[in-house]
Amino acid sequence: MSKMHVVQVSRPNGPFELVEREIPEPGPGAVRVKVQACGICHSDSLVKEGTFPGIQYPRVPGHEVVGLIDALGPGVAGWRTGQRVGVGWHGGHCGYCDACRRGEFFACQIAAQVTGLTYDGGYADYMVTPSSALARVPAELSAVEAGPLMCAGLTTFNALRNSGARPGDLVAVLGVGGLGHLGVQFAAKIGFETVAIARGGDKEPLARELGARHYIDSQAQDPAAALLKLGGARIILATVTNGAAMSAVLGGLGVHGKLMVLGAPESLEVSPFLLISGHRSVEGWYSGTSIDSQDTLSFSVLSGVRSMNEVFPLERVTEAYERMMSGKARFRVVLTTGH
Ligand SMILES: [Zn+2]
Ligand SMILES: [Zn+2]
Repeated sequence: MSKMHVVQVSRPNGPFELVEREIPEPGPGAVRVKVQACGICHSDSLVKEGTFPGIQYPRVPGHEVVGLIDALGPGVAGWRTGQRVGVGWHGGHCGYCDACRRGEFFACQIAAQVTGLTYDGGYADYMVTPSSALARVPAELSAVEAGPLMCAGLTTFNALRNSGARPGDLVAVLGVGGLGHLGVQFAAKIGFETVAIARGGDKEPLARELGARHYIDSQAQDPAAALLKLGGARIILATVTNGAAMSAVLGGLGVHGKLMVLGAPESLEVSPFLLISGHRSVEGWYSGTSIDSQDTLSFSVLSGVRSMNEVFPLERVTEAYERMMSGKARFRVVLTTGH
């Protein structure tokens, strides 16, 4: 067992290449993971298209990784081979810079790593990762189930649980797609009065099945007015990447209401008067660190939240990626290695 397959991108906008490489050895503080499944996230397009500053090519994308620890590098404590683990966007941190010393690992100033961007990720049979990036995966979840929870699930769950909303509060999820279909489930299971907002009526039955108590078709009615009619939202979780769609719901925030921005449009228009008059706010939310991922997995087991996935073998990565980019996948796309 000295060779493996990985899928790499060799230049911005280059094709996916299935190539053979030596199986890597983990260095100090790192572990080798035998990958079982890896979700395809929209952020993988940063590698594919070269829009993230400083990417070194060739690069193996993938930051929704689940697999088994296969080897430990020198100095790794607290982990053993055979353990099932997940690796998300947060790919490790130094532990000693000022940000890390304040517990803000995501903002590490020395060695903030991003899985599949600053080092090779999970579109592969094996990958090597700092042990600080590892989350334990509960036995109740299959690798395919756990994969998308490592980024899409983590991002929505962690934003909601840190939003300041309390059980019973009106919480709206803007968009019922890869992120939103998880956001609706988490919001409902946490105990919020959950509103799903999407374009058209076709997603209403699914949104209700996922736990939405209210559904707002933003094409048929003014979503801000509809939210105010329900009392005004404490939180709107914006999972779309359309700035105009975000601006259109802002007026639906109640007093002290907050728009949490997860999707990244180029710009976003906000009325300062609206913010000032009702003490409203707009906040960006990054995904989370490895312990947040682990909490997301545990809560998903506890509550029954699951990602809806389309599964492809690693060799069919091009087709799988295009499916994700088309926006037609229901709702996440996951690669499997056969391990
Ligand atoms: Zn992601
Ligand atoms: Zn640091």
